Amino acid sequence: MIPGARLIILGRQGAGKGTQCVRLSRHLVVPHISTGDMLRAATREGTELGLMAKEIMDAGGLVGDDIMIGLVDERLGRPDATTRGYILDGFPRTVAQADALDGITSERPIHVVIDLDVPREIVLERISARRVCRDCGTNYTASGQESQTWICDVCGGDVQQRDDDTPDAVNRRLDLYESQTSPLIEHYAAQGRLMVVNGVGRPDHVFKRLTDVVESRR
Ligand code: ADP
Repeated sequence: MIPGARLIILGRQGAGKGTQCVRLSRHLVVPHISTGDMLRAATREGTELGLMAKEIMDAGGLVGDDIMIGLVDERLGRPDATTRGYILDGFPRTVAQADALDGITSERPIHVVIDLDVPREIVLERISARRVCRDCGTNYTASGQESQTWICDVCGGDVQQRDDDTPDAVNRRLDLYESQTSPLIEHYAAQGRLMVVNGVGRPDHVFKRLTDVVESRR
């Protein structure tokens, strides 16, 4: 285990990133900071930011860089992140966000950036089967037999398809990933901080690959 590990996990939507990040955060005992979860929490709370973000998220767009950079700057400055470290999931998503993050983390640099690599055709299949608990955010995979809504095993909340998992929104998000986010792979490779992990296969196998990479960077 790296004491004070600071990691970024990049990867296409639906690459299993969220679930792997939750598991990795327990394994390393560091907070999982997901900008998508932060925005969805703001939406549930009905804050101004949440309402604005919901419209953008449902259309598969990206929330403005300044807003996202402000949110992440504040979150990374909290004591759990400054002392323990963190797993950053969903940020940065643009070169402007990555440049700002380099500044935010100049005193405590990121140790490793992992690209969890899953091809577009596979993530399209996975996202159409993705179901999420509205209350606690636990992810499920529909096998096709289930009725539209079911009850979460963890908290008893309603498990549904995300509003932004419609085919149009998913395709828009994947296009934005190729145009806006994939250049970050070059950005971090040039800094010598990028490791690519194959995200295809059984979740336990993918998790082992992730922990092996993290351990190799101790
Ligand atoms: P996904 O499952 O598509 O990876 P996330 O849960 O990470 O999605 O994010 C959901 C939505 O929240 C994104 O489609 C986008 O609208 C918004 N969002 C999250 N993080 C960012 C970010 N760093 N910059 C801009 N928008 C963001």
